Amino acid sequence: MPPVPPRLFRLVLLGAPGVGKGTQAELLCERLGTCHLSTGDIFRAAKCLAQDECSPALQDALGYMRRGDLVPDQTVLDLLRERTHCIRCRGGFLLDGFPRTVAQAEAFDRLLAASGLEAKTVLFDVDPKVLTERLTGRWTNPRTGRVYHEKFNPPKVAGIDDEDGGELIQRPDDKEETIKKRLAEYQEKTAPLIAFYEKKGNLVRVDALADIATVTNAIVSACPSLLHGAAA
Ligand code: AMP
Repeated sequence: MPPVPPRLFRLVLLGAPGVGKGTQAELLCERLGTCHLSTGDIFRAAKCLAQDECSPALQDALGYMRRGDLVPDQTVLDLLRERTHCIRCRGGFLLDGFPRTVAQAEAFDRLLAASGLEAKTVLFDVDPKVLTERLTGRWTNPRTGRVYHEKFNPPKVAGIDDEDGGELIQRPDDKEETIKKRLAEYQEKTAPLIAFYEKKGNLVRVDALADIATVTNAIVSACPSLLHGAAA
């Protein structure tokens, strides 16, 4: 097999909560040094800040997150603008959890256009019925954000992170009631992005229920090759 040419990773990872976007983003970023931007991780990190380090907008955002509601578009967009350097990273970017509404997607398009950049969207395709099972089995290292799943990607020792031996916890927003709400939010507000990106002709679908390595390979194949004229 000929070696795979270097590829340009400017990707929006789109899909319902629990489909494996975070896991794939982590793997790809480790391998490629690409900038990983997860809006959910930004909000979770903010929870550890002292009250006076946390802007009123961010404190407000945490309330929405705890209830399983989406954070208002304006707050999310302000956070993203503070991280424009990540969007302009020469190594590319992987966006995980953003955009989540059509208004966010439109604002993101404007931000990309202002930087002369384009991104592909990878849809993690999955039957909604299996999502609750995937979410309720999820265990996270609160310090590093590393995610395991008791069935699909278990740690070697239950409750312990393989990498740093840290204790794994179940995120409060991965409890069953909150999950139902998050899935309903996804259907109502985020699923319309599938048609939005399909219409633009830059949506690639991957089977999110395939094993982890197969999904990674599908994502890599979806990215334009740097050796075949793609803009760097
Ligand atoms: P996630 O880790 O991506 O599932 O995000 C966890 C929670 O953070 C979501 O349920 C929302 O409350 C909030 N959140 C993360 N990203 C966004 C976004 N792009 N727009 C609105 N809320 C978000």
